Amino acid sequence: MKTEFSLTQLADPDIAEADKILRACVHCGFCTATCPTYVLLGDELDSPRGRIYLIKDMLEKDKPPTQEVVKHIDRCLSCLACMTTCPSGVNYMHLVDQARVKIEKDYTRPLTERALRAVLAWVLPRPGLFRASMMLARLGRPLTGLLPAAKAGSASPTLWGRIKAMLTLAPGGLPPRGAAGGSVFPAQGTRRGRVALLQGCAQQVLAPRINQAAINLLTRHGVEVVLVKDEQCCGALTHHLGRDADALARARANISVWTAEADRNGLDAILMTTSGCGTVIKDYGFMLREDRDFAAAAAKVSALAKDITEYLGGIDLQPRQQLHDIVVAYHSACSLQHGQKITQAPKELLSKNGFVVKDVPESHLCCGSAGTYNILQPDIANRLRDRKVANIAMVKPDVIAAGNIGCMVQIAGGTSVPVVHTVELLDWATGGPRPGLN
Ligand code: SF4
Ligand code: SF4
Repeated sequence: MKTEFSLTQLADPDIAEADKILRACVHCGFCTATCPTYVLLGDELDSPRGRIYLIKDMLEKDKPPTQEVVKHIDRCLSCLACMTTCPSGVNYMHLVDQARVKIEKDYTRPLTERALRAVLAWVLPRPGLFRASMMLARLGRPLTGLLPAAKAGSASPTLWGRIKAMLTLAPGGLPPRGAAGGSVFPAQGTRRGRVALLQGCAQQVLAPRINQAAINLLTRHGVEVVLVKDEQCCGALTHHLGRDADALARARANISVWTAEADRNGLDAILMTTSGCGTVIKDYGFMLREDRDFAAAAAKVSALAKDITEYLGGIDLQPRQQLHDIVVAYHSACSLQHGQKITQAPKELLSKNGFVVKDVPESHLCCGSAGTYNILQPDIANRLRDRKVANIAMVKPDVIAAGNIGCMVQIAGGTSVPVVHTVELLDWATGGPRPGLN
């Protein structure tokens, strides 16, 4: 694609990067076929190619985003299916990230929307506040039936629709807190490795059992696990809201504490059980490439970052359970399959450890979770969830496994089949407790 940035504009490293990305696009349109919003809405401006043109125009003319541009960028899930499909290697992720930052900086949203986004950006990365808000939301859940329903087929979110989505997503109850930052879990038997395990923010409130399963599994197989003290939210949530200063501050804080831990006691890897976080941590090196003080350390942290299933693939897990034909529908989270290109490892681990693993039809399509998307765009998110759940039902599973808490909550909202994390099944198969299966 031909671009027309001036030399002055190209002196900005972000614009130079955008220019490189845009020039790689040959506008073939292959990406439209796998874009969930294009598949649902059929509007070119809700496709990757359409959005690329909108972003190009906005950046080249250095003009404030229009309401129309914001509408179509906001509808993008950042699922990155387009990057998997694109034959030219267009890095849509870095392009849309820039567009979101520009929108956040140069566009004034209506007051209620600004307030909602500010609340999400403040509450979600703080587990204490998130826990309190979930308890409040639980009280408000009986009111969801009184709130107006969205118009069938609508893709335009309303404030009431968003409030309803928040209340609906809140769980009926919260489990007790999991292990605190600063805890170290020694390896059983001969130590073969030492890793940090990301504590996550929403996950540690909604499902601390996931990291507990990861700790049990790793220590049982000779890996020492540390929950690094003073670790923060990885920044993914605010990064996707275009609040780069907040996201970068969190990235720097995490890089500092993980680097200190690695220097002091050694770390073979930094593991994530939430793939949405993994995609962003693996991108720290790029996000901080212009930061003289942090660029090198950020690149090292990104190189150490691994999804738990990537790491477990290098360990000879020892199955200890006789599993009797338990059919697992494996839901491939977008952040894992498109963001990190991890597609086979989770399924292979499950099969090797005795489960009957089934691929879900249309597995490339997002479930609609996408960070805060299911709150900010509930109508599209619900349609994607229903489509995902219908596809999952086709393989008649006993259980659904996923590697991302956002997907787990989203899918569980549309099915009675139990939804668990891949690592919970692996823990069970190798001697841990049976996860919440019927
Ligand atoms: S598939 Fe790639 S090159 Fe083709 S239009 Fe989409 S982003 Fe551009
Ligand atoms: S990230 Fe997902 S929703 Fe956004 S343009 Fe690409 S495929 Fe479409």
